[in-house]
Amino acid sequence: MQIAVVGGGIIGATVAWRLAQHGARVTIFEARQWGAEASWAAAGMLAPGAEVTAVSAWAEMALASARMYPAFLRELEAASGVRIGYRPTGGLELFAGEAELADLASRAEPQRQLGIASRAVTAAEAMALAPSLRAPAGSAEYRFYPDDATVNPRDIMEALRVVCGNAVREQSPVRAVLWRDERAHVELEAGGEPLVFDAAVLAAGAWSSEVDMAVPVPSTFPVRGHLLGYDLPAGSLDPILRRGHTYLLQRTGGAFLAGASMEHAGFDRAIDPAIVETLRRNAASLFGKLEGLEPRPWVGFRPATGSGLPEIRPLSGQAPRIWLTCGHYRNGILLAPETARRVSAGLLA
Ligand SMILES: Cc1cc2nc3c(=O)[nH]c(=O)nc-3n(C[C@H](O)[C@H](O)[C@H](O)COP(=O)(O)OP(=O)(O)OC[C@H]3O[C@@H](n4cnc5c(N)ncnc54)[C@H](O)[C@@H]3O)c2cc1C
Repeated sequence: MQIAVVGGGIIGATVAWRLAQHGARVTIFEARQWGAEASWAAAGMLAPGAEVTAVSAWAEMALASARMYPAFLRELEAASGVRIGYRPTGGLELFAGEAELADLASRAEPQRQLGIASRAVTAAEAMALAPSLRAPAGSAEYRFYPDDATVNPRDIMEALRVVCGNAVREQSPVRAVLWRDERAHVELEAGGEPLVFDAAVLAAGAWSSEVDMAVPVPSTFPVRGHLLGYDLPAGSLDPILRRGHTYLLQRTGGAFLAGASMEHAGFDRAIDPAIVETLRRNAASLFGKLEGLEPRPWVGFRPATGSGLPEIRPLSGQAPRIWLTCGHYRNGILLAPETARRVSAGLLA
């Protein structure tokens, strides 16, 4: 099968790699630069402990993908020769105040049902796990999620670039993907005759619904996030450290991240100094070593849908070999391996 993949982020790239492994001849059309959008901006938490708070099909998918990660990374490293930063260090979360404690209480039973491991830790144990942790005034609870991990998404994209090789066409925005005569016709913004494939996969992140598919597709839109990068010596923080919407993590090699904001601001790439200041203050109030440091901010566009859930399915009964795979929102790094498994199994069945 000849298959077009629209979008060179982690979703399109992982799907393309899996399809090629199953014998498909794949072409990946990337509008701008390989892996330079949400998949570059992401923190890289693989953190069901924080993200999965209710029993649902989505929760099962997230957990299945998390379980696949170690083998997925080993395979990708071996195939590409690229070393991928991965830290299975667990996540430490602190809860203080009524709303945060209610959140902790409400996730306990669903997480138990789903088999998400966690244990209460004392303030002293929390300080031992994260020595620069600043305990909040008043009472707090601490919970450790041993199976949470982090990965460097930029390493994953570099490795996927190697394994996708000359299947990749950068600076090639797709205008339309149309199903005609049992084939997918891919029209480029640059014009010219449509390119004809046996199948196509739409994985254009927050931009997915801008591609003309001739039938209605669920609207995708960006939820912008600011993240802050700091330089701290490697070994400054072991587990992911979280409180409410604030999280801190350190990558292998030392890069230290604090995030993240959520804004409905369209595709505006401008850094908002007020948001940076709030993130900076929240991060320093959680981790003393950040006090007084100047961070490097960046933004990215989480690909959202109205339902908050990803769309991973054939476009419609009339276009059985055009697949949507978009709307991975806050967890596209986590969900990539299981997404690719589903799309390749569905398309090549
Ligand atoms: C601040 C922030 C923090 C995050 N942290 C995490 C995290 O810790 N863990 C986690 O799991 N997830 C995280 N995410 C979410 C994660 O980044 C996304 O869910 C994931 O990267 C989505 O991947 P994607 O391939 O769908 O989209 P993208 O990476 O955005 O890729 C889509 C690609 O399609 C291309 N494209 C667009 N239109 C066209 C067109 N017409 N033709 C061809 N190509 C096109 C774009 O140029 C882009 O390269 C975070 C996101 C942000 C912004």
